Amino acid sequence: MRLNRGLVVSAIAVVGVLGLSACTDSEQAAPEPEVQEEVEFEAGTTMAELNEAGTIKIGTKFDQPLFGLVGPDGTPVGFDVEIGKLIAAELGIAPEDIEWTEAVSANREPFIQNGDVDLVIATYTINDTRKEVVSFAGPYYIAGQDLLVPADNPNGIEGPEYFQENPDAVVCTVSGSTSEKNIQEYTTNIIAAAGYSDCLEPVRTGAADALTTDNVILAGLADASDGEFIVLGNPFTQEPYGIGLALEDTEFRDFINDVLEEAYDSGAWAEAWEATAGVVLDTPEPPSVDRY
Ligand code: GLU
Repeated sequence: MRLNRGLVVSAIAVVGVLGLSACTDSEQAAPEPEVQEEVEFEAGTTMAELNEAGTIKIGTKFDQPLFGLVGPDGTPVGFDVEIGKLIAAELGIAPEDIEWTEAVSANREPFIQNGDVDLVIATYTINDTRKEVVSFAGPYYIAGQDLLVPADNPNGIEGPEYFQENPDAVVCTVSGSTSEKNIQEYTTNIIAAAGYSDCLEPVRTGAADALTTDNVILAGLADASDGEFIVLGNPFTQEPYGIGLALEDTEFRDFINDVLEEAYDSGAWAEAWEATAGVVLDTPEPPSVDRY
């Protein structure tokens, strides 16, 4: 009897681990973008430097199914990764020549400011505070903050007001994110983790009553949980996802915005979505880029 229980527990643990690694066939790459062989850029631009180097460093999430989830070979998959491949291809850089670095929410601005990465594509909300230190191309998607709870929603949570009305309730989120800032308007009882996947265990054990962040991140985590968690489906913010790059590199930002618009028109953006996030979520209309 005890042995059986042990086996069940370890089987669940294995499923849990597998649930957060890259899937074998469903959540995969879009058709490889055509890599520009003959492209030329004005000398001195970031585009010319990267094209000459033949490689680009991109920071993305490694623990977010559908957007950026690292596989056993160390290469991430997801919609953010596909957006990175589309930009690299227009710079004349093949997907295998992209250097992927794990970004967490709190290190995205310093990564860009220190030149550790050329781009951050990591469910990264464009906002005025961040625009003071980095520039953004995009948006290339608009998410909304929501809540993830156990599938039976034992506390009957319907939205963030629950945390205002129940000051003892605990919510888990990630430090350095807009999710953390936004939920602070409702409660101070917050567990601030490094990554969203770190919040699943607290929600599982009841140490936290919910996990809060963007609905599409939560959708990926819920989908990978095999029915253990649900997303409320009641978004309470707007989170326009941008591509972070060095402050005031306007030529590079314009170039990336052009790449996005071309990908909207050619259908490459929709193909990238359908091969990744679209496995779980409906395909939206692409948002207009904001050439601020
Ligand atoms: N989009 C929000 C942000 O940029 C939350 C998701 C994340 O932390 O990556 O902060």
